[in-house]
Amino acid sequence: MFSYRHAFHAGNHADVLKHFVLIQLLQYMNRKDTAYTYIDTHAGAGVYQLDGEYAAKSGESATGIGPLWERDDLPQALAEYVNLIKGMNPSGKLRFYPGSPYCAEQVAREQDRLRMYEMHPADFKLCTDNFRKLAEHAAAQGHRPSVRGQRALVTRADGFQSLKALLPPPSRRAVVLCDPPYEDKQDYRKVTDMLQEAIKRFPGGTYAVWYPILQRIEARNFAERLKHLPGTEWLNVSLTIRTPGPDGFGGLHSSGMFIINPPYTLEATLKQVMPYLVDVLGVDEGAAFVLESGLAATTPRMTASP
Ligand code: SAM
Repeated sequence: MFSYRHAFHAGNHADVLKHFVLIQLLQYMNRKDTAYTYIDTHAGAGVYQLDGEYAAKSGESATGIGPLWERDDLPQALAEYVNLIKGMNPSGKLRFYPGSPYCAEQVAREQDRLRMYEMHPADFKLCTDNFRKLAEHAAAQGHRPSVRGQRALVTRADGFQSLKALLPPPSRRAVVLCDPPYEDKQDYRKVTDMLQEAIKRFPGGTYAVWYPILQRIEARNFAERLKHLPGTEWLNVSLTIRTPGPDGFGGLHSSGMFIINPPYTLEATLKQVMPYLVDVLGVDEGAAFVLESGLAATTPRMTASP
């Protein structure tokens, strides 16, 4: 059950897509003063060391953040993501990479709440320790005292099951990130079941689901099922960095983010950023993106790279 460790994949092309989009979602929420809740159903460790044992062994950051690190021509929205990571690496050398909880912690404001769930005992402890250190640092700086209270909570519990108790949030504003490992094919069904229930309780929330694009049947039909969730506006973006190898050889080649109730600004931002990502992270002629949006049960509007 606990075979998945995100440290092997930290900073890869899929993380770039997921974390760059997440930062955009939260920055949009910051446009209004009213507090919001950020809910991370599958939090991971919070911070990863790219020269640590797991990440260095896999070398996956070379497919993602690595090629972006030294670029001086980043589109603005992508520069915001890279700058957040530069803030964790003041020496200029890329050593630390943020998980989704850290990205959210940096973008959310004092008044906002972060609720994170992680089942793996080691990653739960790492995430808890990382947030304790952030709280101590904030206290030592004499600002953001609310970090020491209930602003950020990491809980060792099943994120699929825990979400419903938080909805609707007190301020009626929330961003939910759902990013399970999908090693167990039941995860696909659990995501759709969880969203059905969540949307019923809180139709106005923004829900972002990361998913791998794989040959397995559950993965192939997954985005189609998400498009048919009741009464939702959605945006679906995927990034493919190369032609898939035979039998999945060569690791993950493609992944997507499905966003329910996306900010109206996101589509235009993705139209700027995705061609750039294909250009810089693409490995062969199979590199491409697809961007589509629509309302549940309507025909999608498509934008695809040539
Ligand atoms: N969201 C993280 C990020 O972007 O940095 C990465 C999360 S990783 C893809 C998935 C995580 O979910 C793993 O750390 C795994 O231990 C955890 N996990 C697996 N099943 C879970 C469940 N039912 N509830 C909460 N966490 C779970």
